[in-house]
Amino acid sequence: MIDFALSRASSPAEASEQAAKSKTAQQGAQVRYVAGGTTLIDLMKLDVETPVRVVDINRLELARTERQPDGSLRIGAMVRNADLAHDPNVVRDYPVLSQGLLSGATGQLRNMATTGGNLLQRTRCSYFRDLAYAECNKRTPGSGCSAIGGHNRTHAILGTSEHCIATHPSDMAVAMMALEARIHILNGQSEREVPIGEFYLLPGNTPNLENVLKPGDLITYVTLPPPVAGARSHYLKLRDRASYEFALASAAVVIHVDGERIRKARIAFGGVGTRPWRSPEAEHALEGKAADEATFRAAADAALRNAKPQRDNAFKVELAKRCLIRALTTVTT
Ligand SMILES: Cc1cc2nc3c(=O)[nH]c(=O)nc-3n(C[C@H](O)[C@H](O)[C@H](O)COP(=O)(O)OP(=O)(O)OC[C@H]3O[C@@H](n4cnc5c(N)ncnc54)[C@H](O)[C@@H]3O)c2cc1C
Repeated sequence: MIDFALSRASSPAEASEQAAKSKTAQQGAQVRYVAGGTTLIDLMKLDVETPVRVVDINRLELARTERQPDGSLRIGAMVRNADLAHDPNVVRDYPVLSQGLLSGATGQLRNMATTGGNLLQRTRCSYFRDLAYAECNKRTPGSGCSAIGGHNRTHAILGTSEHCIATHPSDMAVAMMALEARIHILNGQSEREVPIGEFYLLPGNTPNLENVLKPGDLITYVTLPPPVAGARSHYLKLRDRASYEFALASAAVVIHVDGERIRKARIAFGGVGTRPWRSPEAEHALEGKAADEATFRAAADAALRNAKPQRDNAFKVELAKRCLIRALTTVTT
């Protein structure tokens, strides 16, 4: 672990000002915020992240969840994953989010992990996390990708490129993708709002660029749209062991069935994509159709049609399909 300076921000604007001194907010950032520290500190110990300054944002007043007059729910970036999972509004109106959060990590980690930090957690690709492997385009642009042709059982099958096949590991972000969350960002004195569907970048030729954040950007809060009356939601995560494990495949489902027909569906996958994976193909295959097994199977086939499995992870194609079918069956019966 390299030496670094630690400072504490007393306001969001001050935090942003300190981070604006970094040349990038992506891999190689010279300034990083620390929230719960459960991703950042690990990666600093591994020398994958080497900031010269770490800005502690734990004292910022961003740890509240508030219902807004329009019925949306505003979640502060510093709300801990455990608190969010048990928030009465979330449990009642957005069960997919509560279930997604509770399926992640462990109780101790969820007590530390924050909403902003969870959105920005880095991949668990072992080649990215281990400096013994020189080839990693995400860590060192242009160096190659050891995972392609390496051990890639847990890697992505959707959204990959010839430069990177690293899986996005978050459960929370997958649920937020299906809920069509919006991410609020402060930079100095200016604020902007990004739909979560536009927040994450595909790896393409530049896997080191993971999202739209620029130097000085601070996530201040996330909003969830008002719950749709009659809609139901569910998160199903499949993994090698029942807890303390990342998803091999997961499905977040928000669905509104009107009589026999599906009026609206929002579908996202975890464990299979290079970013939390929204599937408009599945949504299209569901909307207007009967809520039955044939429809669910057609949606699953549509969602995985463009999957590009690697040597060790072809099993994920069928696993992700079954995951979606089971999640849809659970939520509609
Ligand atoms: C053993 C283990 C198992 C895990 N299992 C799972 C799992 O099954 N599912 C899952 O989803 N996750 C899992 N995680 C990941 C965990 O959920 C994340 O580490 C956690 O959510 C990150 O939040 P944090 O507040 O600790 O982030 P930090 O480590 O503090 O920060 C992470 C990154 O986000 C940036 N950041 C933080 N807050 C902001 C902000 N407000 N604005 C801008 N940038 C910000 C930081 O600069 C840093 O780059 C696991 C982690 C561990 C260590």
